[in-house]
Amino acid sequence: MNTINILDAQTIDKIAAGEVVERPSSVVKELMENAMDAMAQAITIEIREGGISFIRITDDGIGIEKSEIKKAFLRHATSKIKKVEDLTTIASLGFRGEALSSISAVSKVEFMSKTKDALLGTRVVIEGGIEKQIEEVGLPNGTTILVKDLFYNTPVRKKFLKSAQTEGSYIGDLCEHLALSRPDISVKFIQNGQVKFHTSGTGNLKEVISRIFGRVISKELQEISYETNDLSIKGYLGNKTITKGNRNYEYYFVNGRYIKSDFIAKALEDGYKEYLMQHKFPFVVLNFTIAPHQIDVNVHPTKMDIRFTNGELYFEQISNAVKNALQEKECIPEITWEEPKTITPTKANLEKIEYKPTPEPFQYEARNKIKEEIYEYHIEPQVQEHVQMDLFEEKIISKPARCEFKIIGQVFRTYWLIEYKEQLLYIDQHAAHEKVLYERLVQKLKEKKIETQSINPPMIFTLNSKEMGVLQENELYFNELGFTWDDFGSNTIALRTIPLDLYGLNERECFLGTITQLLEDSKKNMHMLMEEKLASMSCKGAIKGNRNLSYSEMDELINQLLTLENPYNCPHGRPVIVTMTKLELEKKFKRILS
Ligand code: ADP
Ligand code: MG
Repeated sequence: MNTINILDAQTIDKIAAGEVVERPSSVVKELMENAMDAMAQAITIEIREGGISFIRITDDGIGIEKSEIKKAFLRHATSKIKKVEDLTTIASLGFRGEALSSISAVSKVEFMSKTKDALLGTRVVIEGGIEKQIEEVGLPNGTTILVKDLFYNTPVRKKFLKSAQTEGSYIGDLCEHLALSRPDISVKFIQNGQVKFHTSGTGNLKEVISRIFGRVISKELQEISYETNDLSIKGYLGNKTITKGNRNYEYYFVNGRYIKSDFIAKALEDGYKEYLMQHKFPFVVLNFTIAPHQIDVNVHPTKMDIRFTNGELYFEQISNAVKNALQEKECIPEITWEEPKTITPTKANLEKIEYKPTPEPFQYEARNKIKEEIYEYHIEPQVQEHVQMDLFEEKIISKPARCEFKIIGQVFRTYWLIEYKEQLLYIDQHAAHEKVLYERLVQKLKEKKIETQSINPPMIFTLNSKEMGVLQENELYFNELGFTWDDFGSNTIALRTIPLDLYGLNERECFLGTITQLLEDSKKNMHMLMEEKLASMSCKGAIKGNRNLSYSEMDELINQLLTLENPYNCPHGRPVIVTMTKLELEKKFKRILS
């Protein structure tokens, strides 16, 4: 006889995961939607190996409270609906409450979140649906979720994945859709260490189009703005010079959701009829707002298609709206004696756009064993003399010691006071941050992992022959730093990539400055120069003294110091940390004589 088994929760989750988590891009989709539902202003998506080995999404949204975090990972746990009636008025992107439980069932998840009212955030590690760790940690407001080794425990599913490159391209597409659907959110997409695009979040759709598809396309657009009681269409229609051979460039969003719908595609193409040759398709980016009761979005688990309750009516409206908008463009003569009112983003004015601050991803790494060298601050008998001590026995900047740190606060808006056992530690916030940045850069340089960002359009430089000579001689070093270029001949180059984060240095000055320095001091080798560059990058990028720093920022800075091999000196050799013992203080107050 067959025995009937009741499946345990983990097995049920693994099965359910199949519906929600098909591939890395479905993970990214769910997590980005969560970030948007959490009212994030800026979202950073970072993937490696097409998202199969690594996905990290950071948002600056409302976060989750510690008491709620465990619930979020349960199946059908959602804060977005309570009962079935809510489904008809649902405004959020997610509501099934299945994403986090499904994702964590088939991968290794690290989830870190902090609400703005909480002093500390919470970090949870879940592997294959099993909670491994939960702790309170210092975090910025918002949420970071790291998904590693997708399908590590369901090898059959893993086998069905395509190449890392293909999976990565699906994620790229998805991030583009999400950025286009929400110009008010700053979206930064990093693939294998390279920033693919970064939108400013200022709400200008045309700017987003330009960031993603380039300036050429953004110059060939006609705005559409159509509005009736139950339908609004806003966005841009590409003119006939940028028609495409397939439908991949028809982007439309219905009530904020990216949709693929034959129905809408046909209606759009009908509107374009007179402007398109056969087998040609338009470039469009359109936002539809349709009364929720007129459509059904819940037809597919991945929510890609919608059904209209009153199809015909909408077909006509959409087609006519497109046709009229295109006609309008044709009829209006070009006004040549006046500057056009609409701003076409050029590189110059794009650069002036203020980006919303991008949330920095957090990663906790195994701490290195540290050889402790620390400066002790002796008040007496040698006033203000730094004596280097070897504190190998009792590490101060170490994880176990860290738990006993009592952060007292900031003094003179520059130094942080920490009580630790019988000592008072003083940390210089600038030196500490500078050191953290510096070590990170040096490490990346060593591992040849300096991240680059492409600049589009590239910067064109015409150098003299001497400059060109040192550039070519040191090409490898420049490449390692993150500068790459195309040589156009006649001493003209097009700079294509620059280091991802120049920490406040100007890319043009940094590039040309390095060449000039090499020319001026031929004895200085590139290696020394690179170290100097990194030191000045970290100095520029570091939090300055004389600036208020929040408790949680300091807390995080201390965490980062813990990851360094030598956290005790800044790159210029100044101490990062000095200590005063309780004994010294007692002597000073003459509690102890001698
Ligand atoms: P759903 O989004 O369908 O509600 P999920 O499993 O994706 O279900 O998430 C469960 C719950 O976890 C959400 O309802 C929300 O309360 C919380 N949550 C998930 N991601 C975030 C995030 N990035 N920021 C804040 N809260 C989040
Ligand atoms: Mg969700």
